[in-house]
Amino acid sequence: MKQSRKNFLKTSGVIAAGTIVASTPVSSFASTIIKNKGSKMKFSFKPYTLELKHVFTVAVNSRTTTPVMLTEIEYEGIKGYGEASMPPYLGESQETATKFLSKVDLSQFNDPFEMEKILDYVDSIDEKNTAAKASVDIALHDLVGKLMNQPWYKIWGYDKTKTPYTTFTIGIDTPEVVKQKTLEAAEFKLLKVKLGRENDKEMIQTIRSVTDVPLTADANQGWKDKHYALDMINWLNEQNVLYVEQPMPKEMIDENAWITQHSPLPILGDESIQRLNDLIKMKDVYSGVVIKLMKCTGMREANKMLNLARALNMKVMIGCMTETSCAISAASQLSPMVDWADLDGALLIKNDPYEGMKVIDGKVTLTDYPGIGLKS
Ligand code: MG
Repeated sequence: MKQSRKNFLKTSGVIAAGTIVASTPVSSFASTIIKNKGSKMKFSFKPYTLELKHVFTVAVNSRTTTPVMLTEIEYEGIKGYGEASMPPYLGESQETATKFLSKVDLSQFNDPFEMEKILDYVDSIDEKNTAAKASVDIALHDLVGKLMNQPWYKIWGYDKTKTPYTTFTIGIDTPEVVKQKTLEAAEFKLLKVKLGRENDKEMIQTIRSVTDVPLTADANQGWKDKHYALDMINWLNEQNVLYVEQPMPKEMIDENAWITQHSPLPILGDESIQRLNDLIKMKDVYSGVVIKLMKCTGMREANKMLNLARALNMKVMIGCMTETSCAISAASQLSPMVDWADLDGALLIKNDPYEGMKVIDGKVTLTDYPGIGLKS
């Protein structure tokens, strides 16, 4: 259901006065769609485009923007905020999210505290669409936390002082640029390096020429031979690398398991482990898991994965996409319980409409604002 011009102006005005900084142009929210206006929980969503500070290069392409959807659930005058971040290579878009979110009908629920029931319903609407589902999950968590007047790390009983340092990713570039970016990242206690290309050792050596901070490595399925991968991991171990993400393609289960068995470093499944069920299947293949809200449908399932991984004695890293402080603050609520965090997503954008978790001296630093921790 498309909203009327009148509603658009009304909604944008409320948002501009509430959580969006003054410099954010209202025209960014040109197509807010409001669902279920007559029901107790009013759900709305709108596309937004994140502008990156620097060109972002991954193995397949380069880009300067990331499409997201911003969501809201309003209940008795209180608003919860959510977000879906959809980097193009993961298969979701503002079009697919609009289609999915248009089907979400919260009018059948009267009580936002029925979170399991509501989020089971959202998950059942369609397959996949994990980021779109996360945008509802995060908004509902924000709302319920605000109704309880507590942040989620407290509701879950996690210790705010136990938050980890976040890694900061040094993008693939020429040695001169890599050196410069490494020097600029002096605030961070851990740097992340994308590997899985021809010049892996050169990237590491270039960074090592200017800093000795611990590194983490993400091969993004880029290594195609298990012996080559293990040789690289042994070499990385000598370079003070702490763990390696997704050494080989996710389909190569036996090879990844063999690497985990022989590796001196923890091997984390990322592309291999999207949701809770994947974690159950892959528990003997990897020694750790990368949990991301956009992969696993949000905070509810992320917390289940975190606790299952802990019970299985697996390492846990919490990661992100390029996201605003909304989804990053939501993920940060879980961070006191993880081994490592890669929550630099909001630091990479120019037009963050929210204020929430901050990285201070390289450390994930939670706010005491209720819900997901956004300043309102
Ligand atoms: Mg990864």
